[in-house]
Amino acid sequence: MSGSRARSRDVENRLKDIQHEILVAVASGEPLVDVMTLLCRRAEEVAPNAICSIIAVDSEGRLRPLAAPALPDWYSAAIDGLLTGPLTGSCGTAAYLGEPVEVVNIRTDPRWADYKDLAAKVGPKACWSSPIKSHGGRVVGTFAFYFRRSRPASRLEKRIVDRCVHLCAIAIENWEAQGRIRRLAFEDPLTGLGNRAMLVEEFPKILDRAQAAGKEVAVFYVDLNGFRTINAARGHKVGDQLLCAVTERIRKACANADLTARLGADEFLIAKTEEHGGAEFEAIAAALSMALSERYSIDAAMELKVGVSVGIARFPQDGDDLDALMGHADTALGQVKSSGRPGYAFYTAKLDAERRARRAFERDVSVAAAAGQLSLVFQPQADAHTGAIKGFEALLRWNHPIHGFVPPAKFIPAAEACGAIDAIGAFVLRRALEQASKWPSHLRVAVNVSPAQIVLADFAHVVERALQESGVDPSRLEIEVTESLFIYDADTALQTLNRLKALGVSVAMDDFGTGYSSLGTLRSFPFDRIKIDRSFVGDMVSNKDAAAIVNSIMSLGRAIGRRVIAEGVETPAQLDLLRRQGCNEVQGYLIGKPLPIEHYADVTGGAEPRGAVNGDRLDPAVTAVV
Ligand code: C2E
Ligand code: MG
Ligand code: MG
Repeated sequence: MSGSRARSRDVENRLKDIQHEILVAVASGEPLVDVMTLLCRRAEEVAPNAICSIIAVDSEGRLRPLAAPALPDWYSAAIDGLLTGPLTGSCGTAAYLGEPVEVVNIRTDPRWADYKDLAAKVGPKACWSSPIKSHGGRVVGTFAFYFRRSRPASRLEKRIVDRCVHLCAIAIENWEAQGRIRRLAFEDPLTGLGNRAMLVEEFPKILDRAQAAGKEVAVFYVDLNGFRTINAARGHKVGDQLLCAVTERIRKACANADLTARLGADEFLIAKTEEHGGAEFEAIAAALSMALSERYSIDAAMELKVGVSVGIARFPQDGDDLDALMGHADTALGQVKSSGRPGYAFYTAKLDAERRARRAFERDVSVAAAAGQLSLVFQPQADAHTGAIKGFEALLRWNHPIHGFVPPAKFIPAAEACGAIDAIGAFVLRRALEQASKWPSHLRVAVNVSPAQIVLADFAHVVERALQESGVDPSRLEIEVTESLFIYDADTALQTLNRLKALGVSVAMDDFGTGYSSLGTLRSFPFDRIKIDRSFVGDMVSNKDAAAIVNSIMSLGRAIGRRVIAEGVETPAQLDLLRRQGCNEVQGYLIGKPLPIEHYADVTGGAEPRGAVNGDRLDPAVTAVV
């Protein structure tokens, strides 16, 4: 046997061993760079006069060096990111053409013109580069042999390259497939953020690193208020677009987060290790809640707004694992939500006790209607000039088995938070109409409705059914809404209000003057009645500004043809001033307190009154002035 054949067989055996070693490394999930470095070293052992380099080509067609253990790092760094092209050295050109490129003299070859100085610093004179192709023929990288002399590759070297290229293709394709599988398992497909599985996998590593560096980690638990109703009213496509826009803002507001995951429909979790001391967490929380609360333009025709609550817990002080930190961040989140105002809160031990109390309260609220603990009181609304009662506002009362009578301002937010508001709202509507059906037909009934009810798709239908069941003429029902209704999803709110109007129901703007853009709200919908908030009425006699505000609301009402009712009228002086300003109707303790309807039997024609209202009849002060 000739010497060269013996050597050839020897190389063949070595290549088989290398192939086996590389495939084992790939199969056992070694990082791609490690596998490629190993392959370079082994290839250089069988081709001792060659310097090996393996480069990946990314999806944008840029070179991404993977391994070249015999070349200096700065050389690989200089190549990193180069775009493949017809004159981009041996590798960039081979990747571009999809075929091997043999450059025998780097110094003179036009394909190296831009890079020959770089090569000269390292030393090689020639370079043979072959494209690495995926199964489907896509170029995923290059495999190159550099030579110290100006010469072509030998036949043996070309054979070695062939085998190595094949191994590279397997390794790179496998790596890409692993990446895809990982993405599927760990990524939320809608937003591209991590999912819960990713959080569970990555979070402990973040804590380990922070602990080693003696740093704090903050967990920001973000929840969107009102997302569910937007999704229900606007459809999932709009909901999805909104979530993507939210994701974009989270990414911007929290650019250096260690991880960001989407945990549920509208829940996000961000983990961030301190960089400049704990104070930065406060700044991030503020930036997050501000950025996410800005209006969203979903497409040219639609603007949405969501409330945002952020709860924050810190490692190590609040807990030392994911469960504890998430639980505490959730507690802080609940605290923000129950406050009824968007914003953020940090966990404190005191919150835990409050959370337990709140949960118990929410549980109680959700059974209150079924347990027969809810009732309605009625407060008269009178003509400001004649004193004649025009109708009643129904106000809800909850007789809590332990706390006694609880005012609605306290339990309505809890009912909204736990979803009980639907059932409670339907109860109020039914009960109020049932009462009204027994009154003379000139008396109307006003019912308060919270935004959470109104934006539900079938609210108008609920009203329609309740009207039919009671037999009350729709014109006798007035729905009272507040401006907060228009903050989240003005379009849906308007649709529902228009449907109510179409039924013949009237709509009043409650607590007017306290919202953020009262005039804008008035322009957007033809409210039948404006209710001046009682805070202005309370102050108007002693405070010129309050009196001026009331006066301008009156003029506004007259100008746009809306009737105005003042609430919270407590004194004859207030009534007198309101009359002089042209107020149409009044409501308040002076006229009558919110009481069980039997107390107003002389007005409603029901059974005899059981006790005094503000005296035996309606307040004599009212009738006296009339
Ligand atoms: P609102 O609709 O503005 O109701 C007027 C509130 O002012 C009532 O408080 C009433 O008791 C009180 N009030 C009436 N006259 C006077 C007065 O002369 N002086 C003073 N200081 N207060 C007066 P209440 O019953 O505690 O209701 C508070 C709020 O709770 C209501 O404000 C309304 O927004 C909400 N609410 C009440 N019932 C319901 C309901 O059935 N459903 C919904 N969603 N919300 C309700
Ligand atoms: Mg009201
Ligand atoms: Mg009010």
